Amino acid sequence: MKILVADFIYTDEGYIQKKAIAFDDFIKDIDNIETLKNIYPKAEVINTPKNSVIYPGFINSHVHLEFSNNKTTLKYGSFIPWLKSVIKNVDMIAKCTKNDMKKAYMEMLKSGVTSFGAISSNGNDLESCVKTPQRVVYFNEILGSKEENCDDAYNNFTQRVEKSIRFTSDKFKPAISIHSPYSTHPKLIKKAVNLAKEKKFLISAHLLESKAEKDWIEESKGEFYDLYNEFFGIQKPINTKESFLKEFDDISTHFIHLTNANFDDIVYLKSKDHSVAHCPRSNRLLGCGILDVSNLNIPWTTATDGLSSNWSLNIFDELRSAIMIHANDDLNDLADKLIKSITSVPAEILELNCGMIEQEKFADFAIVTLPDTPNYIDEISLWTILHTKYVNQLYIGGNRYV
Ligand SMILES: [Zn+2]
Repeated sequence: MKILVADFIYTDEGYIQKKAIAFDDFIKDIDNIETLKNIYPKAEVINTPKNSVIYPGFINSHVHLEFSNNKTTLKYGSFIPWLKSVIKNVDMIAKCTKNDMKKAYMEMLKSGVTSFGAISSNGNDLESCVKTPQRVVYFNEILGSKEENCDDAYNNFTQRVEKSIRFTSDKFKPAISIHSPYSTHPKLIKKAVNLAKEKKFLISAHLLESKAEKDWIEESKGEFYDLYNEFFGIQKPINTKESFLKEFDDISTHFIHLTNANFDDIVYLKSKDHSVAHCPRSNRLLGCGILDVSNLNIPWTTATDGLSSNWSLNIFDELRSAIMIHANDDLNDLADKLIKSITSVPAEILELNCGMIEQEKFADFAIVTLPDTPNYIDEISLWTILHTKYVNQLYIGGNRYV
């Protein structure tokens, strides 16, 4: 048993003071330090520097480790030119090494991320996702727009799913991702959604990321029309927005982006118990707009997306950017919501027993040390976001990694 002591402990209801946490693999007790020492006289007491805050380990709900080797290759600024640059540089992207992926998950770890949702396009990240100390929800992704290739695409996908199932543990959970409405044939979507229902897998899908995607799946026009017409002679999308959404009616789904969703879309998503990952830097860099989180009434997480559309996987870089991008939102309220969007909210969506400092949750902690004593306790979320690049200590399942 260990007892962790800090000036502040984060809870969803606010920051508490003069308490400590007793834990082994799980959180056992939250109480005054003296009380805990009496209950657990043999426990090792771990002190933290003055002005430290214990947070539950952070959760990055959406990342692509396989695309970790892009720095200056892909074209930023607008979605379709970016997509074309991805297609053009597919060989370079495929050369992403295990070392590149290790650097990527270590960067997340140092910023306090103890769990992440990895989108796996080809299975090259499986070993890294099993080896990493972090908890991983491993989203095996399916895509393919041509009907004649559906069988091959599905076979390849199920082989990857089967392989990932073998590693299921406390720290590794296989799941399913449908790439997007513009890239995944309805036959593949149906089969993959059925598999998710049957095996009780979590499911995720990119949706309404760019204006080009919206124009294409709503009205069969725009930049995607030009792209599909030029390369494949296709003039109509394989899924409309409505037909795509219908496929997920009976399975609560973590949609990614929704930057181009309208009010009615959100009402519909709410009625079906769906949620969304907000990726502010990726959306900015690919010219996709801003997800208006202040008016969202569905659960939302904040995530980095992959290094194919970002410059770092440091979760605090993401939160700081969100603070700047949502320039009209109440500052402290936004900061509190952003902390929730990387703790309790993604834990619930990804069905992880963490994300809160509560008895019998996993002992996953990120300890942040503020540079000075906070004058106002209700502003700690903001100070944390503004002043933190790396955490001071980090625990996963009671073991220390930072
Ligand atoms: Zn993504």
